[in-house]
Amino acid sequence: MSYIKHMAFAVKSVDETLNRYRTLLGEGLDAKVVVAEKARIKVAIFNVGDIEYQLNESLDADGRFSQWIGERGSEGLHHICYAVEDIDAALDDALAQGATLRLCKACNVFGSHPHPEGYVAFLDQETGGIELELMQVYTPEELEQYKSIRGI
Ligand SMILES: [Zn+2]
Repeated sequence: MSYIKHMAFAVKSVDETLNRYRTLLGEGLDAKVVVAEKARIKVAIFNVGDIEYQLNESLDADGRFSQWIGERGSEGLHHICYAVEDIDAALDDALAQGATLRLCKACNVFGSHPHPEGYVAFLDQETGGIELELMQVYTPEELEQYKSIRGI
């Protein structure tokens, strides 16, 4: 059983899009806006109900989200991340059904690997044109371990 961990959008301007959510929907008022220098992105994170939204803007014209918008011709829903209980089991099942792994462009890694919030993997296959990310969300202990290894 899985649930939606987050939906990530590629946008040209985090500030403009966040303003839309605020004025049109009254959502995102408490959004956390972060500039991640290493990943060269600006991201706004907020919850709509139980679902986390991430608005991603590349800081560079040739950045990952800029490129995506360029290829597609418009901003849009970049991927949906599904939280799964056991990422290895979920990947085994998907691969047994013929799925293949997609490169994590941020880390240059295929298959399950640690991200700030959990172990993640991407699949080549899409659901209705939407890229699929799977995440085994860290337990509080795993999160502490991740932070201590990276000195956060
Ligand atoms: Zn990664």
